[in-house]
Amino acid sequence: MDVRNCKMCGNLFNYTGSPLCPACNNKMEKKFSEVKDYIRENPTSSISVVSEEMEVPIQQLKRWIREERLSFSKESGVVIQCEKCGAPILTGRFCKECKRTMTKSLESLYSVNAAGSDRKKGSESARMRFIDK
Ligand SMILES: [Zn+2]
Ligand SMILES: [Zn+2]
Repeated sequence: MDVRNCKMCGNLFNYTGSPLCPACNNKMEKKFSEVKDYIRENPTSSISVVSEEMEVPIQQLKRWIREERLSFSKESGVVIQCEKCGAPILTGRFCKECKRTMTKSLESLYSVNAAGSDRKKGSESARMRFIDK
């Protein structure tokens, strides 16, 4: 069992992948919807204003943005950077361009794999024929 101290309240809890205890996680979820409402009502607020007004660390706000749960409007001036090329984006981890090339390379990876397994099958049956003889 992995027991850790909650990053928020310091209480011990069974670690399940989140740095917060279940109680604080619940609090954070509630906070999240408040923050979301706040941003909807104040679309031009910058991230530091939201952080101050909502008493949520900027780091946490950015995490929500990375998880694509939260997105600021262009007017807020809030931008994060694409993890691949550094282009300014509003939400998520990668820009549209990188997302597209990644999907493409995934597709070509898949077709290469498919071709590879076909080749393997071919040589296997060739060997079988050889053994049969
Ligand atoms: Zn806690
Ligand atoms: Zn990019």
